[in-house]
Parts: sequence; C-alpha cells; structure tokens
Amino acid sequence: MKLDAKIPEGPVQEKWDNARFKVKLVNPANKRKYKVLVVGSGLAGASAAATLAELGYQVECFCFQDSPRRAHSIAAQGGINAAKNYTNDGDSVWRLFYDTVKGGDFRAREANVYRLAQLSVNIIDQAVAQGVPFARDYGGLLDNRSFGGAQVSRTFYARGQTGQQLLLGAYAALSRQIGKGAVKMFPRTEMLDVVLVDGHAKGIVVRDLVTGEVRSHAGDAVVLATGGYGNVFYLSTNAKGCNVTATWRAHKRGAGFANPCYTQIHPTCIPVSGDHQSKLTLMSESLRNDGRVWVPKKQGDKRAPGEIPDAERDYYLERKYPSFGNLAPRDIASRAAKKPATTAAASARAASASTSTSATRSSAWARTRSRRATATCSTCMRRSPPRIRTRGRCASSRRCTTRWAGCGSTTTCSRRSRACSCSARRTSATTAPTASAPRR
Ligand SMILES: Cc1cc2nc3c(=O)[nH]c(=O)nc-3n(C[C@H](O)[C@H](O)[C@H](O)COP(=O)(O)OP(=O)(O)OC[C@H]3O[C@@H](n4cnc5c(N)ncnc54)[C@H](O)[C@@H]3O)c2cc1C
Repeated sequence: MKLDAKIPEGPVQEKWDNARFKVKLVNPANKRKYKVLVVGSGLAGASAAATLAELGYQVECFCFQDSPRRAHSIAAQGGINAAKNYTNDGDSVWRLFYDTVKGGDFRAREANVYRLAQLSVNIIDQAVAQGVPFARDYGGLLDNRSFGGAQVSRTFYARGQTGQQLLLGAYAALSRQIGKGAVKMFPRTEMLDVVLVDGHAKGIVVRDLVTGEVRSHAGDAVVLATGGYGNVFYLSTNAKGCNVTATWRAHKRGAGFANPCYTQIHPTCIPVSGDHQSKLTLMSESLRNDGRVWVPKKQGDKRAPGEIPDAERDYYLERKYPSFGNLAPRDIASRAAKKPATTAAASARAASASTSTSATRSSAWARTRSRRATATCSTCMRRSPPRIRTRGRCASSRRCTTRWAGCGSTTTCSRRSRACSCSARRTSATTAPTASAPRR
C-alpha cells in the first residue's frame, strides 16, 4: 500500500488554508443532486450530517444505537479546548497546536493538528449557537478551566457533562434537518461493508438490527464517523460497542488502518473491581484539574483520606512534573499514578541501602534503573526511549543526573541519588541530599 496522507503544501500555518482555497467548490444548485452516506451519529457524524444537509446535500445517516443520542460521545466529561484566549493568559492557535502535538507524544500529523487548533476557535461559537449550555462566569461570559497538557486555561465545559451537552446540540441540529427531510436517519442499523466504484467509496451494505434485513445504500460519497476503539486492552473508558467494526470493514476494502493500540486512558478512573467489569468508570477530570492528586506516602495506609495530614501525602504529579503539576497530560498522569507507591517503596529501600551492604545498594540501584528505563522527562514531558537515556554516576556532584535524549535537558534529582549506591557511599549523613522536589 502506498501511504499518502495528501498533506497540502506550504508552511504548517498555511497548509489547511491552501487546501481550502484549492479544493473545487460545488455549485449550490448542484448540491441537491449529490447524496452523502454518513455512518455514525456521534459528535462527528451528527455534526457532519447536519452540516452537509444544511449545505444542501441529500444525506443518509446510520447508527447502530436506537437513537443518535446514545452515541458514546455522551461519555465525554471534561471539556473542549479552544484557543480563544479569553483569560488573556498567553494562549494562541500556535500554542494550542504546540501543546496538542506535544501531548500526543509527537506522533500526531502536524498539519491536521494545526487545522484543529484553527477550527477550535469557531467550534465554540457554533456549539453556543446550537444551544450548548457552556459554563459561564458571574458576568455571563463563557468560562474556561484548566485541563491536562496545558498551562493556559482554555477548556470550555458544561459541568461534568460536556459530551452529553454537545451531543444534545449536534442532535438538535441533526433533528432539524431530519424534520426538513434533508437527512434520512437509520438508527439500529449496522454497516457491514463498503461498496467501492473505481476505488471510491460509493455505497454501504447494512443490516437492520431489528428485522435482520441486509440491504445496500448507494450514494456519491461515504463518511465514516464511527468513533474510536476501546477494546484492545479489555478495560477502557469506552463502551464495548466502540469496537471499530466499521473501520475494520473499510480496511478490508483497502483503507489504511493504523495504531489500534492508541486507546484512551484516564488518570481518574475508578480501579477495576472484578471480572464482571468491562468498562472503566471515569470519576471526573476535574479531580486533577482544579484539585490536587495525591496518594498516602505510606504504602497500605488504612486511614481515611481526611485523616492523613498534608505532610504524609505524596502529591506525586507536583513532585514529578513541577511546571505542569496536576495538569500533566492524561497518559503521563495515568502512568505516574501507577508509580507513586512503588517509588515510595524504592526510596525507602534506597534510604536503608545507604546504611546496609554494598550488595544491597547495588541491587537497589539496578532495580531503580530498570524501573525508570522509560521514564518521562519533567522538562519536555517526553518519554525517553530506554537506550538513549544515560545516567551520570555522581562524578562531581552528590546527585545523579539524567540527560534526556528528547530535549537535551539534564535532570538532577535527589530521589534518584538516594537510590544510587555510589552517592550513598560518598555522602555523609550531614551532606546527604534532601528529599526536595527535582530541580528544574
Ligand atoms: C469517558 C470519556 C471521556 C472523554 N472526555 C473527553 C473530553 O473531556 N474532551 C474531549 O475532547 N474528548 C473526550 N472524550 C473523547 C470524545 O468523547 C470522543 O473522541 C468523541 O466523542 C468521539 O466522537 P465520534 O462521533 O467520533 O464517535 P462516537 O460518539 O463513539 O460515535 C460513533 C458512532 O458510530 C456509529 N457506529 C460505529 N460503528 C458502526 C457500524 N458498524 N455501523 C453503523 N454505525 C456505527 C455508532 O452508532 C455511533 O453513532 C472522552 C471519551 C470518553 C470515553
């Protein structure tokens, strides 16, 4: 397969504008002659179907739920980012673009991310016009809150139900077009196959999930807005129905399909309680945005959270990522959530290693080193590939340093040095490094 993302020419800021300018327009009078089949009626599908119908195309829209209102977009809680800079804290389209590329571990297609950042500004206005009740401040203006992966406040939200409210807005717009006869809605209908004509998707085969009837629909173009994949690691915040069957069927007809392992993970999921649980429950993103995330410093602490004094709490995100703190991107925050207990245990082991035999110290060092082999740099927030990361063994200072291949920065961390046997040998009790936060 020849991979061609068809990324438009020009500097990243101009690619999307160039493409929009070069794309052939359809005469408004001709739009009604074309039929578009939209598979999916979540935020993506419902918006696409309503917009295409508003433009004048004939639209048929399909979903397997009993109503477009049941699409999994309803589960989104936290909010929607837009570079409007309402809070005047230095936001811009470029900064949203930059944060998104970085938050995506530098794997996203940059031209598309820039387009997303540009469009983010308009989408809020569109949603407001649809009636989405975004939170407002006491003066009546749209409110913003902070969110993971960003140091500016740019998230528009509707309490903890942003997805639900956005879906109500999109559904209202879709219903209006259904009422006008511009969209024909097919709920409880599963797409089974894509029909190709000269290599272009021109139709679909579907099954009516009530009668079992299999039939085909012909059109001029097919939009697949069938959502993400949630089942690859069994537990996910996505419903079991988010199984990318439509995408897979399109792939079997020749469409590119990549990275099914990139599923969504959340730092604030209620832990698995048993085999019966097929879906992780998201508590609230605001747990880490407006609040502070911590674990007891002592492993296995049985006290109620309110009884644990501040000094005995480990605010591990603030400790590990001083500049982002609780606003670290969710994958980084989720990974970090698994570590505080083991890190605390490692520190305790390393502290005791300073007074025990060198054999014990060496094994503490080895354990710590392997555990941190793919750690995340607190400066650039990139995950360091194992072999590129190097560790200076306390040559001149008492502390261990790590040079990160990602950004070239050097992290000096007292936590690490306490686990380092050579540091433990060199330092006396009075000059031993303290357990202060990592220096930046
Ligand atoms: C718990 C949770 C919290 C989230 N929080 C946020 C957040 O705070 N901010 C944010 O920006 N994003 C968030 N997201 C992500 C966001 O909600 C999703 O990326 C987005 O809603 C996906 O929309 P969609 O329209 O692509 O897919 P969906 O809403 O999943 O819709 C898919 C549609 O495709 C249809 N479909 C699928 N397969 C077939 C088939 N074979 N035949 C026919 N129809 C089919 C379904 O019926 C459905 O209508 C969150 C997601 C989850 C799960």
